[in-house]
Amino acid sequence: WDLSVDELLTVLKAWCNRISELSQKPATKWVAAFKNHGKEGGASLMHSHSQIVSFNLEPPQVMAEINASRNYSGCPYCKLMENEKKSHRRVKETGSFASFTPYASRFNYETWIFPKKHTISLLEFSNDELREMAEHIKHILSRLKTIDIPYNLFLHYPPKGHDLHFHIEITPRGGIWAGFEFTTAITINSISPEFAASFLRGEVDEQGNPQL
Ligand SMILES: [Zn+2]
Ligand SMILES: [Zn+2]
Repeated sequence: WDLSVDELLTVLKAWCNRISELSQKPATKWVAAFKNHGKEGGASLMHSHSQIVSFNLEPPQVMAEINASRNYSGCPYCKLMENEKKSHRRVKETGSFASFTPYASRFNYETWIFPKKHTISLLEFSNDELREMAEHIKHILSRLKTIDIPYNLFLHYPPKGHDLHFHIEITPRGGIWAGFEFTTAITINSISPEFAASFLRGEVDEQGNPQL
């Protein structure tokens, strides 16, 4: 969250280069790009960094999203984003992107960033679009910085031959998953997505006091 929009744009372009190169290797089925911040976010190094890992398998979480999408006619994420950018869960909207806090968020202040156009890969975006994406990331992380919360940030897009609306998920790690979560696979989130969105829009502080 200390990086400027220009620096974030450089990171996104580096991710594009690495993903493009690693994807060409015959054994690569998918390339993960993510950032962990803070101890509870699983960060292993003190200095600012992100990680790229190529896999020889299709990631189950992404495949679950792809399989769930098949239950709908058309892309459910296109419709979801269309509704959420006008809802109480909206966070930021620009020409080509919308970010919002998902209904039934798993994590405090969880936020998703979607391109408005149905896009399946980071490599499809123009320089201007990547800059817009960086502005959304900067906006959300700047708000999270005010409460100094650890987080993960990662890309979701389909492995070759599959379709899924590209998106970024930001999952702050304020709560601890414990017995209840592991027994039931249901997570308790003490902050409503509507409150989180109002905080992330900069309207209120974490106590709910209006911000000027
Ligand atoms: Zn879509
Ligand atoms: Zn996802």
